[in-house]
Amino acid sequence: MKDELLERFLRYVKINTMSKEGENKTPSTNEQFDLANILKQELEDLGLTNIKLTDECILTAYLKSNTNSNLHIGFIAHLDTIPGFSGKNVKPNVIYNYDAKDINLTHLTIKTKDFPFLKKLKGKTLITTDGSTVLGGDDKAGIAEIMNMLSYFKQNPNIKHHHIHVAFTPDEEIGGGIANFDVKDFNCAYAYTVDGGLYNEICYSNFNASSAVVTIKGLDIHPGSAKGHMLNASLIALEYQSLLPTFANPMYTEGLEGFIHLCSINGEVGQAKLEYIIREHDIKKLHILEKHMKDAADFLNKKYLKDTVSITITPSYLNMYEIIKKDKRSITRALNAMKKLNITPLILPIRGGTDGAKLTQMGLNTPNLGTGSYNGHGPYELACLEEMQIVSNILIQIASI
Ligand SMILES: [Zn+2]
Repeated sequence: MKDELLERFLRYVKINTMSKEGENKTPSTNEQFDLANILKQELEDLGLTNIKLTDECILTAYLKSNTNSNLHIGFIAHLDTIPGFSGKNVKPNVIYNYDAKDINLTHLTIKTKDFPFLKKLKGKTLITTDGSTVLGGDDKAGIAEIMNMLSYFKQNPNIKHHHIHVAFTPDEEIGGGIANFDVKDFNCAYAYTVDGGLYNEICYSNFNASSAVVTIKGLDIHPGSAKGHMLNASLIALEYQSLLPTFANPMYTEGLEGFIHLCSINGEVGQAKLEYIIREHDIKKLHILEKHMKDAADFLNKKYLKDTVSITITPSYLNMYEIIKKDKRSITRALNAMKKLNITPLILPIRGGTDGAKLTQMGLNTPNLGTGSYNGHGPYELACLEEMQIVSNILIQIASI
């Protein structure tokens, strides 16, 4: 199985599936269909049914239970790699029995002093690139692990399993693909995204998120005769930022701590605009941060002219835990699977959003499982084959009776 998993993974990472920011279509790039079409054929060969590939490049398929189960479980991974760093012409490089030393690639060196976790991977099989591209283990490791699970059930028909549904989706890295997902048609009690992170990771808490736009109206008067009249919107913008809690800033926060992040600031004398994102795992604390921002606007409107500062806050997404805590079957099942395999789970909050968070909001509880790949989104990316195999075993265990 390990050889098969490696062979699959190497095959998938060589296919360019970079998504692209700012395109007015889904998928953002047609190349994502190249991998989807290959997977579609492989799913057919593995005996799955009800295989569909939509115009938006969402590939779904179904493996009927081989017993009288009525539980339907979903497994989801994304097809695309990040737009910001090349995923073209990936040249995977397999290192057997890794010696825990610096890894010299054609274009760079992966140093153990920069990435101390490498020491723990001694003796393992690692897959890197030549250092000029991403590897695309995010998320082709997830795809390979799911496909490997399906292959295992085909090769071991005596192992009883529940109804299995799989989905491979586009444009996760630009946050666009999952909106077209037909949760009803997928027909699962719950699902798992298998994406990024450590092999024993399970994540079911992410940020609550909103965004804020603060606009400031100034009074632009010739500086020579400005005394007592001018309102400089740019200066008021700086004052506005200074009224926000200093340490609620992503530079100073980690773990479950939230933040207000100033994404952009544009200003002249006559007008200024500040754009923020607000993030908190706890919805009540998110609302407190939002209140700080409104209070700062109110304060400045009292200090200067009424309507000098206006603020619009728009909710973006919610912490999936707010929904999952009402029905924890997906978590219990994953934790039990890890327990059976003697794996200590690592339960981590996600400092961002996931496709699973959106799916959970759309009615399909979808926590995330890690893949055994490291350093995603850059040329230092690598994957550990043995850990990928463990993830695939976890998936098999989750789907088994
Ligand atoms: Zn990913």
